[in-house]
Amino acid sequence: MPEPILAFTRVSKRFADGTVALAGVDLRVAPGEFVSVVGPSGCGKSTLLRIASGLSEASEGTVTVRTDKPGYVFQDPTLLPWRTVQANVELFAELRGLPKEERRRRAEEAIELVGLSDFARHRPRALSGGMRMRASLARSLTLAPELFLFDEPFGALDEITRERLNDELLQLFLARRFAALFVTHSVTEAVYMSTRVVVMSGRPGQVLGDFAVPFDYPRSSQLRFDEPFAHLAGQVSARLRGTSRTTGGGSGGLKSEATAQVAGGHAEPSGSPPVNQGSGGLKSAAGTQAAGGHATPSGSPPVDKAVHR
Ligand code: ADP
Repeated sequence: MPEPILAFTRVSKRFADGTVALAGVDLRVAPGEFVSVVGPSGCGKSTLLRIASGLSEASEGTVTVRTDKPGYVFQDPTLLPWRTVQANVELFAELRGLPKEERRRRAEEAIELVGLSDFARHRPRALSGGMRMRASLARSLTLAPELFLFDEPFGALDEITRERLNDELLQLFLARRFAALFVTHSVTEAVYMSTRVVVMSGRPGQVLGDFAVPFDYPRSSQLRFDEPFAHLAGQVSARLRGTSRTTGGGSGGLKSEATAQVAGGHAEPSGSPPVNQGSGGLKSAAGTQAAGGHATPSGSPPVDKAVHR
């Protein structure tokens, strides 16, 4: 595996009230990987992301982030209601102190990428839930993140909108080649999006399964109905259900499940995801990498190269 862009090594988290949210989590994300994390509610998925972003500290273990360009997208798009879409999308670049022309250019480019150009002058209240999430995504894209942390970004959306945004996010992933750590409750979403799916146990969260997803990108929405997809999703689900049984009643039996697909953390080390055709959809995407600069997203502490927490 190439040097991971994000690595948790034996990470545990105990809150001040004694709650142990994570216990000895080992998890690596290589450049170009899209890793989803599924697990029961309260197993520490958000805590994991908060530690990766520097908003919270591990009690034990180390977290290494090898980029100064992380991006965050959460379930709540947190747009400022008095600002237009354009002004909202400019916000992170503005807080980073980028010159007006530059942030306008980046925002316009990101807004076009997520298909919101016709709504750039609208206020958030005029947008649907899916459009608000696109605006939130665009706001992070202005900083050209090399590592994206997603906390249930589409969890509040209806199924059709969610599937559409899954495809749009995958197009962005192929165009921008960021690494992603994506928390979701949906096994289908996890398998559809990812190069790897990590299954966590109930609290305190531990990594109990690591499944390589062998399907090429770009992925067609039809993939969700293919037998190999259903088979893998079934194995992930079984592991998840086994996890719940274990935490609920201590039933054991996990070790015998789904071993054939467990990748053991050695999946798809590629610097870029496997792609079997042209990278689809987003016309101007490929040329936008240059939006780079060396900005760090606002609202989060600056992250140095190879930060060890
Ligand atoms: P998930 O995202 O998997 O639903 P979280 O990471 O939000 O889980 O929370 C993991 C566990 O830690 C939960 O039991 C939650 O109640 C607890 N927890 C989260 N934040 C705090 C905190 N600041 N203090 C005490 N317990 C917390």
